[in-house]
Amino acid sequence: MRKKVIAGNWKMNKVSTEANQFVDEVGAKIPEDKNVEAIVCAPFPFLASLVDKTKDTNLKVAAQTMHYEESGAFTGEVSPVMLEDLGITHVVLGHSERREYYNETDETVNKKVHAAFNHHLVPIVCVGETLEQREANETMDHVENQVIKALEGLSDQQVAETIIAYEPIWAIGTGKTATSAEANEVCAYIRQVIAKLTSKETADHVVIQYGGSVKPANIEELLAQSDIDGALVGGASLQPESFLQLVEAGK
Ligand code: 13P
Repeated sequence: MRKKVIAGNWKMNKVSTEANQFVDEVGAKIPEDKNVEAIVCAPFPFLASLVDKTKDTNLKVAAQTMHYEESGAFTGEVSPVMLEDLGITHVVLGHSERREYYNETDETVNKKVHAAFNHHLVPIVCVGETLEQREANETMDHVENQVIKALEGLSDQQVAETIIAYEPIWAIGTGKTATSAEANEVCAYIRQVIAKLTSKETADHVVIQYGGSVKPANIEELLAQSDIDGALVGGASLQPESFLQLVEAGK
């Protein structure tokens, strides 16, 4: 059975005291359970402190993006070497907000996925269609293309370790969730695409999350689907109580 991975993507929210209070409160309450993994994806300024505060807990800390180069003249950027050095375990790559506002492309996502593996970071690769693409029946082709490009050049073992987050753009922050059947249909398709790229056995290992207006009220139904192995959650991950309810649903 695949484990469930519940990741809270804080995006550009919280100040230092709020971030630290959150992990102080939540960290100790995350149960040791090999079937569920809980992650907070925090802004860069808080990462060092959050890694320190969570080191004796089961809560993991992720970055929300990174550069693919190890170092150099890239003003304002953060490298995989820096994240590895801090003790970060996961990194979100190719979030639709990065693709829309910061020129993230399938090519840069692929470079970053390779960089993540070179530095022992688990990539959480986001894919998903716009409303326009969904209405034009282009969802599957678009998502397939994003998945193939993101995973290009990886070994089967690396593919097996990658987390894919299916986030339909029209469901992010809008209160509109894909129905659990719609979400599962795309997640199952992603698994088929990965099976074609590698093998069924490899594809069966890949954790595929759903993201887009996930909240305590709808997570159980989403996680009950055959191919949804967790959630990448924005708004509903910001409050400790609601984040803990989401993690609880993963058990
Ligand atoms: P919301 O849960 O706020 O819709 O955000 C989803 C998301 O983009 C997580 O990465």
